[in-house]
Amino acid sequence: MTSLAQNESLRAPSPLAIKAGQAALVSSAAYPDPDYHILRTSISNAYGVDPDLILCGAGSMELITCITHAFAGPKARVLTSEYGYALFKNSAMKVAAPCDLAREVSQAVSTSALLQAVTSETRLCFLANPGNPTGTALSNNEIREFRTRLPEHVLLIVDEAYGEFAQAHEQPLFDLVDHGNTVILRTFSKAYGLAAGRIGWGLFPPATREQVQKLIIPSSICTVSAAMAEAAVQDQIYMQETCKMTAQVRDEFIREVRSFNLTCDDSHTNFVLIRFSNNEMSNAADAALRQQGLVTRGMGGYGLGHCLRVTVAAREVMTTAAEVLEKWSREYLR
Ligand SMILES: *Cc1c(COP(=O)(O)O)cnc(C)c1O
Repeated sequence: MTSLAQNESLRAPSPLAIKAGQAALVSSAAYPDPDYHILRTSISNAYGVDPDLILCGAGSMELITCITHAFAGPKARVLTSEYGYALFKNSAMKVAAPCDLAREVSQAVSTSALLQAVTSETRLCFLANPGNPTGTALSNNEIREFRTRLPEHVLLIVDEAYGEFAQAHEQPLFDLVDHGNTVILRTFSKAYGLAAGRIGWGLFPPATREQVQKLIIPSSICTVSAAMAEAAVQDQIYMQETCKMTAQVRDEFIREVRSFNLTCDDSHTNFVLIRFSNNEMSNAADAALRQQGLVTRGMGGYGLGHCLRVTVAAREVMTTAAEVLEKWSREYLR
């Protein structure tokens, strides 16, 4: 079976990262540097951000969980959008924080709906940009405008897990962190192809960073993973090439899928969300792909049972996926 279900990279991490990981194995008797000084410096150099504002965690999932743990609770509500990343809702649930969902318009985040849903008890607003599972994106200027209109007491967390795919030509949002109530999250799991390594990072205002750091499991990133991430972030060319390859294969796949009269939005990520007419049709397409060993992700859990999320894999795999869908749609839609 080939997984097209987890939004993993279509290729292995940079050879430099693999070499660095192998070299780090000999230091396995020692605990990692709990501050990840070298990793934070490498990230700081690559992204032009202050290393003292960076907090690293075992995947951005650890950071999301700890942010919620630090700030949300029964009277400190969490706000996100209708098709927001499931972990936002789940981590709110773990701390008994009510989670408000703002409606989306055409499966894209509506900042005006989010603003309407803010209450005096809203403490956190999570926004994945681009969104997972929708793949749609707001421009960074729209997010800036949203931050200006969002009350000061709401901490905005912009989860840019797919930022490297989406924002090559946009002014990044990192400067918003200087105003004290915005956090930007990134990960090595997607564009850097290091999902197994469990390395995420965020840019935090100092006081927020301090509170979240207290909740992180000490030394949660192992030395080998940290060494891989250090090398990977220094190899920006490899990462940018991955993003370019992904975009090419993705856009070809989207064109093909549309040519069979199936619907999907443009994607700003390494996955494509195909929208079928109804749940039965989506399930049937899923079954046809599975029969050929291709596992995609059904979106019933998001209330999008008529959609399948397909991770962009290597070109040969996507060609097969498109062929299966074409044959299936000819029979199904006959
Ligand atoms: C994949 C993904 C993450 C990444 O989580 P890690 O713990 O860093 O692997 C975070 N947020 C969103 C929206 C994602 O899709």
